[in-house]
Amino acid sequence: MRQLINPATGQPVAEVPDTSVEAVGAAVRRARAAFAEWAEATPAERARVLLRLADLVEADAEELTRLEVEETGKPAAVFRDGELPFAVDNLRFFAGAARSLDGSGAGVFSQGYTSVLLRRPVGVVGSIAPWNFPFIMAVWKAAPALAAGNAVVVKPAPQTPRTTLRLAELIARAGAPEGLAQVVLGGAEVGQALVTDPGVDMVSVTGSTETGRAVMSGAARSLKRVHLELGGKAPALVFEDADLAEMARGVAMGATYNTGQDCTAATRVYVARSVYGEAVEALRATIAGITVGDPWDAKTDIGPLISAQHRERVHGFVERARGTVVHGGAPPAGPGFYYPPTLVTGVAQDSELVQGEVFGPVLVVLPFDGEDEAVRLANDTRYGLASSVWSRDVARAMRVSHRLDVGVTWVNDHLPIASEAPHGGVKGSGFGKDMSQEAVLEYSVTRHLMIKHAAPVERDSFRPA
Ligand code: NAD
Repeated sequence: MRQLINPATGQPVAEVPDTSVEAVGAAVRRARAAFAEWAEATPAERARVLLRLADLVEADAEELTRLEVEETGKPAAVFRDGELPFAVDNLRFFAGAARSLDGSGAGVFSQGYTSVLLRRPVGVVGSIAPWNFPFIMAVWKAAPALAAGNAVVVKPAPQTPRTTLRLAELIARAGAPEGLAQVVLGGAEVGQALVTDPGVDMVSVTGSTETGRAVMSGAARSLKRVHLELGGKAPALVFEDADLAEMARGVAMGATYNTGQDCTAATRVYVARSVYGEAVEALRATIAGITVGDPWDAKTDIGPLISAQHRERVHGFVERARGTVVHGGAPPAGPGFYYPPTLVTGVAQDSELVQGEVFGPVLVVLPFDGEDEAVRLANDTRYGLASSVWSRDVARAMRVSHRLDVGVTWVNDHLPIASEAPHGGVKGSGFGKDMSQEAVLEYSVTRHLMIKHAAPVERDSFRPA
């Protein structure tokens, strides 16, 4: 049995079993059996199940909140009033997307033949999720795959399995064929069992870049399709004409939301040298006002980090950087794995703190001289997921945005997302998109039917027409 620990108290909250490798195979077979029925369901039938699921999730808000908060320590209000309604919106979006999943059409591309292009499901999708947004990640993994007609076997992160188990129950209650959404529990070993299972047609993972590499190489043995959403190290570029108060609010929120355990977190702030001092002070004052504490207290902005081990890792980055700690930088005494919002200056671009994914509420600020240098510094990491540009000059914001090697750029904000907009990165941040119609397309394949409509002709050879 695996003990689940509440990060806000350090105390155990529940135990769950790990799935054996043999039981992973059995889960995949159950999913495959359900797939046969689901693949034949009409788009309207799939949409109805997803819409009912959205209603069931909404009605289950209290229980889902309890489970998510116990395992992650995130503020209850942030989950119940923000992440959960967003997940419900995702489900309703995917219900609609299920009904507009047509192929790119039909045509006569070769004389005497009509081509029809169809979208078909891939089959059984093995999905592996991280612990930072357990419920939203489970929805992002399951819903687009189901909308496209696939079955799913989801493996949540070992620290945070219970909202995924609950989602699978709700999928069954929403009227999906029995066994369509399976959950397997455990860590990397169970993940690899899923990745290499011959009954799995595609694997989708959200996690670190190293995990993405391990999943891709495991999937290579049987040439499975892979969908990788990996780490990030988002830059925020602050120009001299930015509204610095607005920037401080947006970047501080972008850096500390979910205690910085967010792949799109604003982690590297590059500021035009002429406003550098003013920007650092605005950021310091803003993060000093962030309330860290009990997830059940309505005044709490951010909760603890996920584990004691992760807190040590985050703090190690800050200690080794040997920069100027302008705010925070020391774990508080007392129970729970809390860490304060931390602002560091005076470190080099090639330092570990600037290059590595800390995954905690740690913000590093560096100056730049001119647009070219800002772009060069922003692009100078192995990641390419998210970024933001802060300027009142629309042309400059556009110009700079076009030069950033990332999946998303926000202008004068950092973090907002929408069900309709694809989320995913480039470079070491992986490939593949979550949310939007693009996610549904990723879980489907194009089939070409070529139908001869020309009258039969007498031919004296077997060469094609
Ligand atoms: P992780 O990579 O340690 O684990 C992610 C999942 O992969 C877990 O379920 C884990 O058990 C499983 N796993 C680990 N090693 C595996 C292996 N060798 N084979 C198969 N499965 C394996 O990541 P984490 O610590 O849970 O989450 C944090 C990471 O996730 C960060 O790097 C973060 O940036 C990334 N993330 C990315 C996005 C995105 O959309 N790009 C979103 C959220 C989190």
